[in-house]
Amino acid sequence: MADDCLFCKIGAGKIPSKIVHQDDVCFAFDDIAPRAPMHVLVCPRDHLDSLSQVDAPHEKMLGHVMHVAAQLAKQRGYDSFRTVINSGTGAGQTVFHLHVHVLGGRPMSWPPG
Ligand code: AMP
Ligand code: ZN
Repeated sequence: MADDCLFCKIGAGKIPSKIVHQDDVCFAFDDIAPRAPMHVLVCPRDHLDSLSQVDAPHEKMLGHVMHVAAQLAKQRGYDSFRTVINSGTGAGQTVFHLHVHVLGGRPMSWPPG
């Protein structure tokens, strides 16, 4: 856990959130400012600033995180959903703990802004 990280604190239960999934590897919670009827963030328990820090030893963890993301969307009945990982300020990342946005429940356009 990184001392000053918002999402580490959420994962540790030190900051309230609507947790929708927890296991040894990752946790997921509702985004505080949802951009779609479903907007969940899936985070690895281990702190990584962003996808840029991912290396070979993280591959299994990352696969699990993506599996959980898909399961959560399917559990809510969404055949179509979007997963987004913003990496770096220029890509829109604002919280520097790796997380996957899972959005569903409305039409999505492409490309993203
Ligand atoms: P990103 O901009 O990709 O780093 O995404 C960060 C996301 O975290 C945004 O969609 C925010 O709405 C969300 N967020 C920020 N603070 C909280 C919080 N306390 N609980 C839940 N979601 C949060
Ligand atoms: Zn963290």
